Amino acid sequence: MAETAQPAMPDMERLAVALRQWAEALGFDSVGIAKPALAEDEAHLLRWLKAGRHGTMRWMGRHGVKRARPDQLIPGTARIISVRMDYRPPDLEADDAILADRRRAFVARYALGRDYHKLMRRRLQQLAEQIETTVGPFGYRAFVDSGPVLEKALGRNAGLGWIGKNTLLLNREAGSYFFLGELFTDLPLPEDAPVEDLCGSCRACIDVCPTQAITGPRQLDARRCISYLTIEHEGSIPEALRPSIGNRVFGCDDCQAVCPWNRYAQPTDEADFHPRHGLEHASLIELFRWDEATFLKRTEGSAIRRLGHERWLRNLAVALGNGPADPEAIQALSERLEHPSDLVREHVDWALRQLQSATLPSVTSDQPRG
Ligand code: SF4
Repeated sequence: MAETAQPAMPDMERLAVALRQWAEALGFDSVGIAKPALAEDEAHLLRWLKAGRHGTMRWMGRHGVKRARPDQLIPGTARIISVRMDYRPPDLEADDAILADRRRAFVARYALGRDYHKLMRRRLQQLAEQIETTVGPFGYRAFVDSGPVLEKALGRNAGLGWIGKNTLLLNREAGSYFFLGELFTDLPLPEDAPVEDLCGSCRACIDVCPTQAITGPRQLDARRCISYLTIEHEGSIPEALRPSIGNRVFGCDDCQAVCPWNRYAQPTDEADFHPRHGLEHASLIELFRWDEATFLKRTEGSAIRRLGHERWLRNLAVALGNGPADPEAIQALSERLEHPSDLVREHVDWALRQLQSATLPSVTSDQPRG
């Protein structure tokens, strides 16, 4: 962050009050301010990386300790303004109902609408410009899941919530269905106080995780996490984990859906986050039949697009293999047996074997063999 010549420093207390009002007017649901101090989180991050629990997310290890030292990442950073924006669309069917219907596709609720990155970054930019009208030129940089930033730890320090046992930031009035963004700034704004951890003796998220990826309170083995496997992971999905993925084709919300604090989650009225292209009630076969051009068209402006058509088919093949052995599913999979991608063919082949074994008559000990 470049040093900036500032006019007489305005009253930071008053500026903090005003910026909360501006943030609210811009559609942010909450705002908090913290110092760039993350020593404990740095130690946790380094242990996590050393244990290899980040899987193939090699970018997590890049930038060294700068990820936990915002003032080294952006020199001159004195405070970080964290913002929250709720994303859960209104009137959605319960997750359980979709997960129980193995012919349908479950897409993480955050990905049903438009990608949030651009929208939030634009609003953070507007917030910075508004601050500038009061203080004159100042140093800032906006981040929305876009840089080496420990956004949940920064949000916790800024009083936006506490980090739950599921490793997500939780807010007592809003649960955890929200996006976070940050404005790194050189302004010495007053800090907010962190809030109390309200997980108590609950461990519902640990118990519900389909792949036991939460190995203890705030301990996530990303290599087992369905969100990681279906979104971040680039290669073959380990066979042992495929049955537990069920019909989740992009992400997993189980550790959020089960969290009692999400009873307080507020539906968003942000039209960009409302479902598009019927993704909230699509069937697996319908999505698996999308060719690449259709995939690119239907996922334009969506977070799903960066997955690419190949991994989209990979995920859908796994979900079809976990579903009922309908002739239509077997037909759709068989049509992809000659797909040019090794990755797709391998998962299609696995899915067909799953469905074929499900259609074989079971052999019990009192049936004749021979
Ligand atoms: S499910 Fe329970 S333990 Fe997990 S994050 Fe929510 S309150 Fe905390």
